[in-house]
Amino acid sequence: MKTCNKCKTKKVYKAFHKDRSRLDGYHGTCKDCKKKMPSCKRGTVAYFFKQTWHVLNKRTINGKYPDRNNPKNEIYFKKGVRLEMTRDQFKEFCELNKQSILKLYKDGKTPSLDRVNSKKHYSVENIEIISLRDNIKKSHNEKGQ
Ligand SMILES: [Zn+2]
Repeated sequence: MKTCNKCKTKKVYKAFHKDRSRLDGYHGTCKDCKKKMPSCKRGTVAYFFKQTWHVLNKRTINGKYPDRNNPKNEIYFKKGVRLEMTRDQFKEFCELNKQSILKLYKDGKTPSLDRVNSKKHYSVENIEIISLRDNIKKSHNEKGQ
């Protein structure tokens, strides 16, 4: 059992999302409370920021929790892609690109983060917001080269 830091209710571990960065392996806030938080609402900049930052930390060699077992990340580790910006820098980037992120959501698309030069790393100077579909297209084209 674990007490949620938001609703202060004692709940079973299953009621919390897993979080490897935590000592006990679970989030401090329960799933029910998480759902009510604005950062968990799809279609917001906060949501995009949170999800993307999580993914970046999983797929970069110097990320907080590199996940080498996920085949999706294989190419990133192979190339040794690094995360060369801080959480605050990325947050600022998301704020600056708010309009494009929200427009993609509004058009029913999924915004994603693209490296302008795919030989370079994830830094504020080398990232842009494009739709997930365009991103996949772009990476297929690069593979063919
Ligand atoms: Zn709670």
